[in-house]
Amino acid sequence: MQEFFQNGAVFLWAALAVLTFIIGRKQGAVGYLLSVFFIFMAVWYGLRTFGGLPVFDGAMSYVFRGILLVFLIVIIAVWYRGRKKQAELDAALKAHAENCGCKDCRDRRA
Ligand SMILES: [Zn+2]
Repeated sequence: MQEFFQNGAVFLWAALAVLTFIIGRKQGAVGYLLSVFFIFMAVWYGLRTFGGLPVFDGAMSYVFRGILLVFLIVIIAVWYRGRKKQAELDAALKAHAENCGCKDCRDRRA
């Protein structure tokens, strides 16, 4: 039964990788980054489950945590930058009235 759950974890990470890749096609960088992250998780769990490597013990566990931390920081940084960009875009749009006649607004209404 324990083996079932160990294999299940690998497939769960792999499924999440596929899912976030699909999301990435719509959401862009953050989705793809999450996909890469879940691929890494699938490989790491796979090394233990199918390769029998002690990837959660000793020095390997610190490598694992270090990589998790780097992913976390990069994903948050990219997500935050994307949000900031979107907020700036929204603010720029708000500055124009509904019947604004500038070229940007005319293009947008067209
Ligand atoms: Zn305008």
